[in-house]
Amino acid sequence: MPSDLTVTLAAALIVVAILGYWFGRSGEGPGRLSGRFREFAEGLPRRSEKAVDAYLRAAEKEQSGPDAAFELAAYFRSAGDWRRALQIHESLAVRADLDASDRARAGLEIGDDYRCAGMLDRAADAYAGTAGYAPLRLVALRRRLGICEQLQDWEQAVRVTAQVAREDPEAGRSLRCHYLCQLAENQAQAGGFRQARKLWRRAAREWPACPRPAVDRALLSDDPFGRRLSAAASHPEFAELILAGLVEKSGWTPDALDRELSMLLRDGSGLGSHLAAALLMAPALLCRSSAQCLFSALHESCPAYASAYAAGPPSAFTSQRLNELRGELRKAGGGLPRWRCADCGHEDEAHAWRCVECGGWETARLISPFAPPTA
Ligand SMILES: [Zn+2]
Repeated sequence: MPSDLTVTLAAALIVVAILGYWFGRSGEGPGRLSGRFREFAEGLPRRSEKAVDAYLRAAEKEQSGPDAAFELAAYFRSAGDWRRALQIHESLAVRADLDASDRARAGLEIGDDYRCAGMLDRAADAYAGTAGYAPLRLVALRRRLGICEQLQDWEQAVRVTAQVAREDPEAGRSLRCHYLCQLAENQAQAGGFRQARKLWRRAAREWPACPRPAVDRALLSDDPFGRRLSAAASHPEFAELILAGLVEKSGWTPDALDRELSMLLRDGSGLGSHLAAALLMAPALLCRSSAQCLFSALHESCPAYASAYAAGPPSAFTSQRLNELRGELRKAGGGLPRWRCADCGHEDEAHAWRCVECGGWETARLISPFAPPTA
């Protein structure tokens, strides 16, 4: 033990000397030393746990604020060295001279260190512990939800949203709606439609403004096709998604499709331009009614093309002619529709309720050549 003590003391002296030099040279506070900390951290030898330890004790003795230690740990974690970051955060979490907010902040960081290490159970425990400190409770709960999402543990996620809703009712309820829909989706894919319908109803009650329960039910349930198709009229902002997704799977004959679509369009739902845009995604939607929509959309966006095709009624279109028309339409409409995240700008051809880039829920907006501008 004496040799350990000697090494530690020597390391402490070196660190204190370095710190003294920094402070003396610059006069900057400990919170503004990131550049210097980088130098310090890069200069550390490989087996330097003792030096970190010594540094922390020196910092404690000098009663410096914890910011510098947080910064040092952040540097280690960003360099992939979560062990050293964890060592620093654990020592901060038990430092009696720090106030509760700094200790709770250290608790959150411990969770992030474990998450960085792939130890998700321990990370969840650390976040759960931090949730006891009221001012950081919401942040801790959201990070816990992040782990549930990573593990696709939707049941646990639903449970955590009850606590989120106590801090932030809107966030808690809208997230719960999505997690219930995730559960419903799993049920529907496994053929459990009755259970799925229950979950969609529960989700819709939880957050009535969210279109997802209705859209998912239209796309994934075993309801009659006419009813599923009519969901497009109640949620025109998702009409392309519903029409294209549903018709690709329905296996309708062109006549049956024509009947359903003309009924839907006659209801005055203003779906014409949505239907034209959906045609770009789903060629199977081509029938007399949809060709008429295409025709009028084309007439508005590109009259020259429309007049070129005005020679015969849509009912006379051969499939080759319709294919040509679709090609022209794509040119006129500027390519296929895409979904863009309203928060981070990530673009994708496929729709997703959760952005793969930023993790935001319900942020995808359709950029459709023929969709009317949203208010
Ligand atoms: Zn995003």
